[in-house]
Amino acid sequence: MKAKYLYVLGAACVAICGCANNADVTKQTQLLMGTAVEISVADPGMDPTLKSAVIGKAFDRIRQIEELMSSYNQISDVCRINSFADKRPVRVSPDTIKVIKKAQDLNEATGGAFDITVGPLVELWGFGPKAEVFRAPSDEEVRLALKSVGMDKLNVDYSEGTVNFASIGMSIDLSGIAKGYAVDCAAEVLRQNGVKNAVVNAGGDIFCMGMGPRQRPWKIGIRHPRVKNGLLSVVSLTNRAIATSGDYERFFFRQKRRVSHIIDPRTGVPVSDVPDSVSITAADCMTADALATAVFVLGPGEGLRVLEKAGAVDAMIAVDSAEGIKVYKTDGFGKE
Ligand code: AMP
Ligand code: MG
Repeated sequence: MKAKYLYVLGAACVAICGCANNADVTKQTQLLMGTAVEISVADPGMDPTLKSAVIGKAFDRIRQIEELMSSYNQISDVCRINSFADKRPVRVSPDTIKVIKKAQDLNEATGGAFDITVGPLVELWGFGPKAEVFRAPSDEEVRLALKSVGMDKLNVDYSEGTVNFASIGMSIDLSGIAKGYAVDCAAEVLRQNGVKNAVVNAGGDIFCMGMGPRQRPWKIGIRHPRVKNGLLSVVSLTNRAIATSGDYERFFFRQKRRVSHIIDPRTGVPVSDVPDSVSITAADCMTADALATAVFVLGPGEGLRVLEKAGAVDAMIAVDSAEGIKVYKTDGFGKE
């Protein structure tokens, strides 16, 4: 998997359509995990009532993950950890332990770029559940918050299923990985209930099962980071996940620079300017989701090097430049 600089796109972008809006596809949408989640099932031979019931079960599973991993629901595992784990080990569900384990592995694989203990920094810059406005903190505030950040300070007892903080002032944030996990769980529910061809899309974190309409791979449009309703690329996927992290959803401007909601845990400062968006394809959506966040922090150079080592994943990274959007891709991206 070699990284290479591919081409420069102008401001106007190709608008290719190819999503699941087709008579052969049953599609339902629910607002979950802070986004519109769409589940589309293409199995033509399946009884429509059964299809609907199975889609309902998949949504229920996503709701279950949301209830465990939301930073906004006081009784979620995440909020209980954040309220009590500095005092005692907090017992959480196997789902939460699984996501934390994956987060630990990917923290290591990305040299610390992906870090679920960024909670204090997310809050400090005004992107967290308690924050009311986006704000730029002082260097001293950042330095202090960094003392409560780091996966080495998160103690997980896998046999007991508990989580404990090694320092005060810590908080975890699963927003960079939980949606991907929820998508995988929903796809699993569909699979267990006989569905073979479907797409689960949680606001751009997507898993494509089997084939789309007319037995062709599902076509997924990747949003252009700077052109409203524009697409940067379209990829064809089957039995593969894709997730995108972008700077166009939650951000503010500071000294004419765009301050994104993704924070570099090594410096305590949000990623600014580079890149605009990162799309990752992987065998599962949890990996794609977390790596998209991590590569957003690392940027194209370091990001593509890290992915090369991770293997079995591909990436497309869009970066603003004076000539327009530059796109970097791994050799395998778009050829899945
Ligand atoms: P995503 O949209 O999947 O890239 O996730 C972004 C969200 O993850 C942010 O809104 C934060 O809540 C959280 N986050 C920010 N920076 C990081 C980071 N470096 N590692 C893990 N999670 C992060
Ligand atoms: Mg993510």
